[in-house]
Amino acid sequence: MLLPNQLFESFKNVSFIDKGKFIEAHQQAPVISVRLNPLKPSDAFNEMLGVPWCEYGKYLHERPNFTADPLLHAGCYYVQEASSMFLEYALKKLIHFEETIIALDLCAAPGGKSTLLSSLLNEESLLISNEVIQNRASILTENMTKWGQLNTWVTANDPKHFSPLKNVFDVVLIDAPCSGSGLFRKMPDFVNDWNQDTVHLCSQRQQRILHDIFDAVKDDGIMIYMTCSFCEEENEDIVDYILNEFEVDTCSLKIPEEWGVVETQSTKAKGYGYRFFPHLLRGEGFFLACFRKKNAEHHLPKLTISKNSKYKPEVSNITEYVNIESKVTILQHDNLFLIEGSHAVYAEYFAKHLRLIKKGILCGKLIRTEVIPEHELAMYANTRKDIASVELSLNEAILYLQKENIEINCPHKGWFIVTYKGHNLGWIKNLGNRVNNYYPSNYRILNKNILSA
Ligand code: SAM
Repeated sequence: MLLPNQLFESFKNVSFIDKGKFIEAHQQAPVISVRLNPLKPSDAFNEMLGVPWCEYGKYLHERPNFTADPLLHAGCYYVQEASSMFLEYALKKLIHFEETIIALDLCAAPGGKSTLLSSLLNEESLLISNEVIQNRASILTENMTKWGQLNTWVTANDPKHFSPLKNVFDVVLIDAPCSGSGLFRKMPDFVNDWNQDTVHLCSQRQQRILHDIFDAVKDDGIMIYMTCSFCEEENEDIVDYILNEFEVDTCSLKIPEEWGVVETQSTKAKGYGYRFFPHLLRGEGFFLACFRKKNAEHHLPKLTISKNSKYKPEVSNITEYVNIESKVTILQHDNLFLIEGSHAVYAEYFAKHLRLIKKGILCGKLIRTEVIPEHELAMYANTRKDIASVELSLNEAILYLQKENIEINCPHKGWFIVTYKGHNLGWIKNLGNRVNNYYPSNYRILNKNILSA
């Protein structure tokens, strides 16, 4: 791969770069890694070497045919670039996860950082996972659905829509859209589209996004800025911009030297940043910087539940599917949602300001008192384990995920969850003379020859 010359000029102050080794690393294959879902433990990749900065991160020797593995579709793991898993280390250094945290992942699709953060949060905590581009927001919703947590909601908003939300989030992640040079090894085509003008445009957009979101961070809250760019204009210069524009402190992280992560300081304000270079560690290019907001004058928003909202106790057979203790159900246009009890106020608050496209778990349509189950309910990590289920072989599981008709022996008529290696894949309904496949059409595997691919 031929790297653009201008790329080296774009990290003019990064004196420690060994150009030769950097170029050499770009001739090698990208690192393949996954992060396991602690709520859906399986034996997948157990024997693989761990990523040092991430408890559930694993390096793989080669890229398997991920699409042909039903456990990926069951949400047992997420394919994520290893350097970006460093977010976990930074979060653990700065946040007390035993406390209730209200978090926002502003640029979240396809969901790598959101699934990572959601695995660290306790049940009372809440993550708003946002993506402005609509088709990417759908992919984000799919991935968050598969990850299976009640306390991760999805919104599809422009960062400026968050401006009226003052002092709301304890943690805000800004994994900013960037020029992407850190991913050249993974996406060689990016090299052709890369130029200094794009870097400059990205830098301006990053500044706009930061302005739009800053007030939404709580006093004393943490803001984490990340890119997958090597360029200083999008990294250290943005750190300088943040320290100049906003009332924040830079946060330094103590990092074991042997990891090969490089600590940098911005030219003017000397803010800390952490850089990942492919010639120094097993991962792609990545940058992360953390800030703590200094006390500002905003007051916490007063959150209330209006009298006419439709929060229902157990008016249906929902308890056959989930334990609803400490939770509430919300009925909207016959759709029954399950959310954590303490999140009810947030459901109203966020719905007022944002385009909320996933909240809690959509359990199903309520027809009189019967829940017609939805896919989200099957994917929820805490659905009841005694729901009628049928275990599938690999071939059957793939047919199911392709939304083909499958012949399965069910012991009686009605709804069943189908499983692979004990993990839920979705619903079928046995009508007696045939079995209907309820796998969502938009999630189905399109490649008909996936097992031989
Ligand atoms: N955090 C994601 C993850 O870990 O999977 C990756 C996010 S990617 C680096 C940046 C995201 O920002 C993209 O999903 C992109 O659609 C979104 N984006 C693009 N333009 C944006 C804008 N003007 N404001 C906010 N987000 C934007």
